[in-house]
Amino acid sequence: MESERQIRSASALIALGGNVGDVRATFKDAIPDICGMALAKLLARSSDYSTPPWGDEDQAPFINACIAIETALDPLALLSVLQKVEQSFGRTRAKERRWGPRTLDLDLIAYDDVSLRTPELTLPHPRLFERAFVLVPLAEIAPDRMIGGTRVRDGLASVSAQGIVRLPDTG
Ligand code: ADP
Ligand code: MG
Repeated sequence: MESERQIRSASALIALGGNVGDVRATFKDAIPDICGMALAKLLARSSDYSTPPWGDEDQAPFINACIAIETALDPLALLSVLQKVEQSFGRTRAKERRWGPRTLDLDLIAYDDVSLRTPELTLPHPRLFERAFVLVPLAEIAPDRMIGGTRVRDGLASVSAQGIVRLPDTG
């Protein structure tokens, strides 16, 4: 029987994005920071993709990627880690316009099968299935994962991935 004191871990999917500065270098540094601060193990990391800007089209292309981690933190504590890491890479929400340029955006896409709707955190991420820039990297690492009743690969098949380009590994 599982002891109550045993540390439980959850599987979380995180989307990374940015279009200011050397975003690929930012990702390289941010991923170990997330894992360290979230007491997490990195299970998978997608390639980086160049993607057309979304929502607000008058800005530079984005780089996007996704990671899968196993973490002992609860969803809100994990979101708080993601926001701290965003800030440590120079993101200042107060100066931004919605969906505008940013150094690093970290979205919690899914946390086990948790459904949540609070002012700070909605799970699964409410705009996941509209966003090819999340679905393309996510389908690379978790094509069969069911999120909110939809399989990731089926979600990808129902959006246009036009303009999204996988970038070669930098090593
Ligand atoms: P977006 O990621 O849609 O471009 P922001 O990064 O500016 O927007 O996030 C806006 C707010 O969304 C954050 O303050 C955060 O509290 C909230 N939020 C709600 N659900 C989530 C989630 N699943 N992942 C990340 N942020 C979320
Ligand atoms: Mg975000």
